[in-house]
Amino acid sequence: MHLMRIDLHTHSNASDGTDSPAELVDAAARAGLDVVAITDHDTTAGWEQAAKALRPGQTLVPGAELSTVSVDPRTGRHVSVHLLAYLFDSTSVALVAEQSRLRAERRTRLRGMAERMAADGLPIDPDEVMAALPADAPAGRPHLAQALVRAGKVVDVNQAFAEYLGNGRGYYLPRQDTPVETAIDMIADAGGVTVMAHPFARSRGATITPEVLVELAAHGLTGVEVDHPNHDEATRAEVRGLADELGLVRTGSSDYHGTNKTIAIGAETTDPAQFEALVARATGSPLVVG
Ligand code: AMP
Ligand code: FE
Ligand code: FE
Ligand code: ZN
Repeated sequence: MHLMRIDLHTHSNASDGTDSPAELVDAAARAGLDVVAITDHDTTAGWEQAAKALRPGQTLVPGAELSTVSVDPRTGRHVSVHLLAYLFDSTSVALVAEQSRLRAERRTRLRGMAERMAADGLPIDPDEVMAALPADAPAGRPHLAQALVRAGKVVDVNQAFAEYLGNGRGYYLPRQDTPVETAIDMIADAGGVTVMAHPFARSRGATITPEVLVELAAHGLTGVEVDHPNHDEATRAEVRGLADELGLVRTGSSDYHGTNKTIAIGAETTDPAQFEALVARATGSPLVVG
């Protein structure tokens, strides 16, 4: 029997990946994936093109990765949370409004970072950086990283993050992301399901504590990403244990970004039974079958 291969976290150039949505679907087929989710940051703009590109036998999970924040009520500490959302109704009025606010926020913030760099004498032209972005696109640091590569300042996106764009660097600017509880509610109201992406990817900066996962599970979070390139073995075991304790669906995914990251599509996958459990809890937007 053919074991289904499922990758539930990928980015196209509708956000900060380098493949067009059609190329993403092609890459998924070439990697032998039966199921691929498109999860661009804060946009569903790639859904239509991806759906059209499907070949017979391929299944597309329409999704997005929402930029959210967890605020600890005791300490006031803010931690960034990437919330994967699947199978929601993309025309939900509240969701459309919040995502459009966030995309505007992303642009203001990226321009601010570009201006800081230019003021410091780096070869970055803020107008040029912004002009290179498609209208209403969710602007992200990888776009600035590409500008630094084009200017010959760094050899690749990784080096750009290490030297200029990382959280602890002087050019970093924060964003007003959606409170994670609000985002979970919005997606649930739109018939979708939510999965916390790379919860303990400590290499990316501050992460939530297990207590937050406990609270969000009680708040209606559907699942959690266990297998992710930024989780080491010990972290995977820890997240798997928490998921089982809390009754959360466990996913595994590559977080493919085309050539903006080195990870291959399908490098991490989701167990078919877990995928089924995830889909069973969604009502907002169907799977798309090629
Ligand atoms: P932003 O959404 O603007 O805060 O940028 C975050 C995005 O940058 C993530 O979604 C990743 O795609 C990318 N990213 C973060 N860290 C790195 C890194 N070290 N190397 C390459 N890309 C990264
Ligand atoms: Fe990204
Ligand atoms: Fe993420
Ligand atoms: Zn991602």
